[in-house]
Amino acid sequence: MTQKVPGIEIPTVPQNAMGPKVPPCGYLVEEIADGVHWVTDGGYQCAFVVCDDEVVAIDAPPSLGTLVMRAIRDVTSKPVTHVVYTHSHGDHIGTVHQFPDDAVRVAQRETHAILRECNDPLRRVPDVTFKDFHRLEVGGQVLELHYRGSNHAPGNSFVHLPRQKVLMLVDVIYPGWVPFTNIAQSKNIPGFMAHHDHALSFDFDTMITGHLTRLGTRQDVEIQREYMHDIRSAAQHALEITSQKRDLARSTVGTDHVYVYFKTMYEAAAAEAARPVIEKWSGRLGGVETLGVNHTLTMYHSLRLDENAQPQVVFFPPTDGVTVR
Ligand SMILES: [Zn+2]
Repeated sequence: MTQKVPGIEIPTVPQNAMGPKVPPCGYLVEEIADGVHWVTDGGYQCAFVVCDDEVVAIDAPPSLGTLVMRAIRDVTSKPVTHVVYTHSHGDHIGTVHQFPDDAVRVAQRETHAILRECNDPLRRVPDVTFKDFHRLEVGGQVLELHYRGSNHAPGNSFVHLPRQKVLMLVDVIYPGWVPFTNIAQSKNIPGFMAHHDHALSFDFDTMITGHLTRLGTRQDVEIQREYMHDIRSAAQHALEITSQKRDLARSTVGTDHVYVYFKTMYEAAAAEAARPVIEKWSGRLGGVETLGVNHTLTMYHSLRLDENAQPQVVFFPPTDGVTVR
């Protein structure tokens, strides 16, 4: 079912992708379990943990801006003494400067290295860093920070609250929706894929995912893992039918403009291979009609470039496709 807007077909958003209504003040703040709160504007999410005498903040997206501090003040007057960065991206930590200067910033080493390079006054480099694991114990609350390798971004880490069974991982899982464009703009697609299993290895009931409409569950991770494996199979199929599409590209757009030639060939292969995935997931995950082909094409390039076991199919010079093992 689609609704029509002048010239554009908009697929119906599945019921499962709907989240709680954000009040007119522009943000929703809710306690998930024993001091752990999430804050959302309906598109971005961050979190904070109320401790005995202080608060630990996790991320502060510019879309919420200073509403994060207002949300904290709705709940408690205790000072923010620690700030955890899930990763380095400005759209998630671009307003951490709203927290007190003397609050201790904590992040993974790779995040530190990226932020040092950025030299962005809005994203101060962390004071405390860790490689694989850091246990942050503040006023009766325990936050365990885990790094399982590069994924959406180098340094992107899990924040686990074992007692409350809450897990935070940003920009990887999209509850009720397919991931954002180009497989969530991931720097490391194999790492992104592995993070579904890494997430499920934690003991949690509720997940804060940094994006979109609602909180996540274990089932959301399992569903997205199945979707992403379907995308991987589709991308594998796209690789297999690329030689047919090479012939199509040659006979239609020619080879004089090499980028038009490649674009035509790759996109035709991805579009054909993605079709059954889009049919399977339409109505179940929001956005599959819009991004299914994009995900297949992104995965296609990852298979070509990241995975050693892939036969390397060479289509340029465009005279013949040569498979080299
Ligand atoms: Zn990000």
